Amino acid sequence: MALLGMDIAELEAAVTGAGLQKFRARQLWRWVWRHGLTSFDEMSDLGKPVREQFAAMFSLDRPTVTRRLQSTDGTIKWLLRFADGNEAETVYIPDNDRGTLCISSQVGCTLTCSFCHTGTQKLVRNLTAAEICGQVMLAMDELGDWPAGKPERRLTNIVLMGMGEPLFNYDNVVTAMRIIMSGEGVGLSKRRITLSTSGVVPEIIRCGGDLGVNLAISLHAVRDELRDELVPINRKYPLAELIEACRNYPGLSNARRITWEYVMLDGVNDSDEDCAALLKLIKGIPSKLNLIPFNPWPGSPYECSSDERIEAFAAKVLKAGYASPVRTPRGRDILAACGQLKSASERGRRQRTGTASARESAPSDATT
Ligand code: SAH
Ligand code: SF4
Repeated sequence: MALLGMDIAELEAAVTGAGLQKFRARQLWRWVWRHGLTSFDEMSDLGKPVREQFAAMFSLDRPTVTRRLQSTDGTIKWLLRFADGNEAETVYIPDNDRGTLCISSQVGCTLTCSFCHTGTQKLVRNLTAAEICGQVMLAMDELGDWPAGKPERRLTNIVLMGMGEPLFNYDNVVTAMRIIMSGEGVGLSKRRITLSTSGVVPEIIRCGGDLGVNLAISLHAVRDELRDELVPINRKYPLAELIEACRNYPGLSNARRITWEYVMLDGVNDSDEDCAALLKLIKGIPSKLNLIPFNPWPGSPYECSSDERIEAFAAKVLKAGYASPVRTPRGRDILAACGQLKSASERGRRQRTGTASARESAPSDATT
């Protein structure tokens, strides 16, 4: 049984079900989630028979790292393989006052946003809660972040902005984030977790109540006609419904704002009129704006807006009272934009079998 996806109640049930006392579950929990142990032998306050029993019942396995790339700017990207051979990505982005881990919620994505490379990948499955937590555990192992909560820790924030639509894998994402937030374990505050969604309206409302984490919305267009094309889930949950759900997201205040992600596509959504309509749309909602330079991929149907256009757009946003809105590209040299490493690796594999060209050194412009 994969222990990393079990909440404390499940763990207690498994432990008592095996004839052990309930407090053993809490001891185990602290070793795993506070100290990051990967071996039962090191759990010094458990007797040998109990350790052996646990070892027979549970696995503490992390996903396997198939590639690890480190950028000159400190960004680290891991391509991870899960037990069934499927792969997904996790990216660590260090900054002055924080270190953010970008994690994946699915292998691929069922949605087909026209500018997103993940949406073109055919294979899709939900990651389990253990696989979602496993990404955090693996990063903490590699960053030397155990015991959890130490003052000089490197991982301080989590964003669910990797591969997949987190609200289409609702139960596993909620279970995993509750485990990561648990005070007796990693203990990351909900204020340090941000979930990014393309706009699955019913689950946005549920998520506010169940997790209360920060919300980021992949907006990208402010007219339904265009958003239907860029973010096709808009056909099911149009802008008016999305904005209404966000307006009612629990706990919003000036200290806790919604992040609107807006990818800058040359000649598509980057005009002054688009900017004015964007500011009008979010008026009255505590908001942060995040202008993302489009990161092109081979065959992508768009180009990134020019620097001048992005600056002009950003200037208008600034004037309206929103601070530093352009997302700085990170990890250019290591394909840090989500979906790219996995795709490069697949191309590499195909090339080895003689069907396509590998471009693993292709530069990338943005990261998630
Ligand atoms: N499915 C979720 C979370 C993963 S995508 C969502 O859509 O919100 C994380 C962010 O990366 C989203 O804002 C997405 O729109 C953006 N993104 C995807 N492809 C991109 C690209 N090629 N260039 C720039 N940003 C991109
Ligand atoms: Fe899926 Fe998000 Fe990419 Fe859209 S932008 S295809 S929802 S991962």
